[in-house]
Amino acid sequence: MQIYTLKVVEIRKEAKDVITVCFKQPGLKKVTYLPGQYLTLVFRINGRRYIRPYSFSSAPKVDEYLEVTVKRVPRGIVSNHINDRLKIDDLVEVMHPMGDFIFNNDHTTENKHIVLWGAGSGITPLMSIAKFVLHKQTGHKITLVYGNRHVDDVIFSAQIQDLEKTFSTQLQVWNFYTRLVVDNKDPDHIQGRIDPHKVLTILRSVTDLQNSIHYICGPRGLKESVKQALYSFEISEEQIFAEDFELIKDPAEFEDITTRHVKINIGEVAAQVEVVKGKSILEAGLDAFLELPYACQTGHCTVCKASILHGQVKMIGLVKKHTDMKDNECLTCCAYPLSDDVQLTI
Ligand SMILES: Cc1cc2nc3c(=O)[nH]c(=O)nc-3n(C[C@H](O)[C@H](O)[C@H](O)COP(=O)(O)OP(=O)(O)OC[C@H]3O[C@@H](n4cnc5c(N)ncnc54)[C@H](O)[C@@H]3O)c2cc1C
Repeated sequence: MQIYTLKVVEIRKEAKDVITVCFKQPGLKKVTYLPGQYLTLVFRINGRRYIRPYSFSSAPKVDEYLEVTVKRVPRGIVSNHINDRLKIDDLVEVMHPMGDFIFNNDHTTENKHIVLWGAGSGITPLMSIAKFVLHKQTGHKITLVYGNRHVDDVIFSAQIQDLEKTFSTQLQVWNFYTRLVVDNKDPDHIQGRIDPHKVLTILRSVTDLQNSIHYICGPRGLKESVKQALYSFEISEEQIFAEDFELIKDPAEFEDITTRHVKINIGEVAAQVEVVKGKSILEAGLDAFLELPYACQTGHCTVCKASILHGQVKMIGLVKKHTDMKDNECLTCCAYPLSDDVQLTI
């Protein structure tokens, strides 16, 4: 795994409890990335290693710095550390960029209509894609549908307004507010959630729908509303990309899971950890201070892949199919023991 050490050169406040951290490119081996990918940051906090992915909010070939935008999560260890403690000139270890929530030139030949659906901090990868497409891929149209509670919560408010002015014929923005009484005079500002009914209304205004590509990043409800409406217009799966910041777990899937012990071999070291019901094998290992490999924690990147030597595990919340994974392999971030004799090797 390629690890880079990046220097913080600027920190910008974007909205309440949201900052953008700007990293300088390394002098020699540059970090290359695609719009929509994420950077995985590694921190050591109170003696324990924490790894968290953050989507690039910068766009390659447009922005000078590598930028991530971090929203504080209540009681969240790393998001609060970044918001409260990170400072200019600090050095941060990062993994090479990953992720397939990307704008791909090869799939996007001529004059596509790119519809970006986001809420809250879900705007970050969408911003990267929007800036890249508008600045570097003229010809495509962009519609941004962006939900927030209030105007004060809007991340990149000024940047979005600048883009609207500069690319007035290419970019249209619909702002949704759940906690703001919206003045009806402004048709692009809508009160309420981005619900299935409103999604349908927006889609009816997209004249070139069959030629559209959709990127969704936000809470589960947003993804479901948008997908449901897109399917009703017979938009195919290939035209829809979605990114989750959190692993979605269905409680019903845990009915056959109980607290069990799991043996983990990491190179020469063997450890036994208690995996309390509800925790993944990765979470249990990290709580036991094992330095296990991981990155996205949502079952996408496969950095936490392990071989199953004994026993049975159940994968929960895995939305992506990994055709390259063998039958005796699992992703520890989504793996839960189903038998008492589980032994994994990493
Ligand atoms: C591919 C990917 C890209 C991401 N990009 C961004 C980004 O651009 N900006 C950004 O701010 N975050 C982003 N995240 C989320 C980020 O990686 C962390 O999960 C988040 O900052 C919380 O970490 P923490 O250590 O503060 O919280 P933790 O200490 O890990 O968790 C504390 C509590 O908060 C809950 N929680 C964890 N994550 C979230 C969340 N995202 N929202 C609400 N509750 C949560 C947990 O269930 C837990 O109960 C991304 C995640 C993924 C998988």
